[in-house]
Amino acid sequence: MKVAIIGAGASGLMLGGLLVKKGFDVTIFDHNEKAGKKLFITGKGRCNITNLCDETEFLKNVVRGGKFLTSALYSFNSYDTVEFFNNLHLKTKVERGNRVFPESDKSSDVIKALLKHCEGVNFLYNQNVTDVKVAKSVENEQKLVVTASGKEYVFDKVVIATGGASYKTTGSDGSGYKFAESFGHRVEKIVPALCPIKLNDDVHALMGLSLKNATLKAKFDGKNKEFFGEMMFTGDGITGPIVLSLSSYINRAKSVELSLDLKPALTLEQLDARLLRDFEENKNKNISYIFKGLMPSSLVPFFAKKCGVDESKKVHDILKEERRKISETLKNLPLSFNSLYPLDAGIITSGGVALDEINPKTFESKLVKNLYFIGEVLDIDALTGGFNLQIAFSTAFLTAKNM
Ligand SMILES: Cc1cc2nc3c(=O)[nH]c(=O)nc-3n(C[C@H](O)[C@H](O)[C@H](O)COP(=O)(O)OP(=O)(O)OC[C@H]3O[C@@H](n4cnc5c(N)ncnc54)[C@H](O)[C@@H]3O)c2cc1C
Repeated sequence: MKVAIIGAGASGLMLGGLLVKKGFDVTIFDHNEKAGKKLFITGKGRCNITNLCDETEFLKNVVRGGKFLTSALYSFNSYDTVEFFNNLHLKTKVERGNRVFPESDKSSDVIKALLKHCEGVNFLYNQNVTDVKVAKSVENEQKLVVTASGKEYVFDKVVIATGGASYKTTGSDGSGYKFAESFGHRVEKIVPALCPIKLNDDVHALMGLSLKNATLKAKFDGKNKEFFGEMMFTGDGITGPIVLSLSSYINRAKSVELSLDLKPALTLEQLDARLLRDFEENKNKNISYIFKGLMPSSLVPFFAKKCGVDESKKVHDILKEERRKISETLKNLPLSFNSLYPLDAGIITSGGVALDEINPKTFESKLVKNLYFIGEVLDIDALTGGFNLQIAFSTAFLTAKNM
C-alpha cells in the first residue's frame, strides 16, 4: 500500500512513522529543504508539545471543532503524547498550566525524535506539491496522483497535512485549502487566531509595556468573553497570552468593544473606597501621584486621557464624579478595537476544511475515497498551551490506526 503525506510537519511526521510501522510504503513531500520548520519555532524555540490534562479539560481549550476532535483525542491523548516521546528517549517536563516541554528546552530535539520515529519513510524535500487529483481507476481501485515540482507520482492513498496559512515562511502557505477545494470540499473562511490585536488608540508611547494581572474583556456580537493574565503593548496594539486567547473568539465578530480591568481583584466599591483613602492622605499632591500608585507610570497619560481627568490637577480639586469616573475607568479602561493583525501573524489559522465532509474516525474525505486531511488544515483550533500540537498528533494517530 503506497501512501503519500503532503507536509513534513507535526501531523505528517507523526503519521508517517506510524504507517511505516504498519508496513505501508510511505512518502512524505515537503517544499522545504528539511522537516518541521514550524515545529522549530514553536514555544519560542522550546516546543510546548502538549498539555497534560484529561480530555474534558482539553476540550474546554478547543475553540472550534471540539466535538469532531473527540474520537481522535480519546484514542491518543496528551499522556499518550508524553509516553510516545519518552519512548523515543526524549525526556519531558511539565511547567505552569500543565504545559509539557522537552527537558532540554530545545524544539530541535522534538524534531529529531519525530525523525527517528520516521525511520523507513521516504522523504522528498524541496518538492512543492501543486496538485492532487484522482487517477484513472486501476482494477476498480481509486488511486490518486500527486504533482510535485512538475513530476507526477501515483499513490493508493494521499494525506493532506499541509498545516494552516500563517507564518508562511515555515512552509504552511495555505495550499492544502486549494487541494481541498479542487476536490469539491468546502473550506470554512480562514481567519487569524491566537493573534495580536491592532488598536485605533495611539499606543506608540506604551510600546513594550507589560501588564501582569489584568483582565481583558470583549463584547462582540451580543457575547462576552474575558481573560485574566499577562498582556503587553506593541507599537500599534496589544499582544501577550490573554490577547492571543481573546483573539481566537473575536476573529469572526462584526463589531468588538474591548476594555481592560486594571484592578480585577477589587470590586468597583472597594476601589472607590481605596481611592477615597488615597485622596485623604494626599490632598495636596497632583492626581498623577495617585495614578502612579495604581498603574505603571508610562500608562498614566493614556489612562488620564481616557478618563478625561487633567493629570496636573490637585487631588483636593477632584470632584466626586471625577473620582467615580477614575474608579470606573480602572475597572473598564476602553481600548478602541481596530482589527486583528494580518493572517500571517496568527499563531494558528482558524477555519479550514469543513468538518462535516470528513469522517472523524478515519479522517478520510467523505467526498473522495483514499483522500485524508489531518492537523491544522482542518477547521479545528485551540488556545495556547500545547493544545494545537496535540490536535496534530491525535488526528495523525487515529488516521494511522484506522487506515
Ligand atoms: C510561532 C508559533 C509558535 C507555536 N507554538 C506552539 C506550541 O508551543 N505548542 C503548540 O501546541 N502549538 C504551537 N504552534 C502551533 C503548531 O505549530 C501548529 O498548530 C502545528 O505545527 C500544525 O501542525 P501541522 O502538521 O498541521 O502543520 P505544520 O506543522 O505547519 O506542517 C505543514 C507542513 O506542510 C508543508 N507544506 C505545506 N504546503 C505544501 C506543499 N504545497 N507542498 C509541500 N509541502 C507543503 C509545510 O512546509 C510544512 O512543513 C505554534 C505556531 C507558531 C506559528
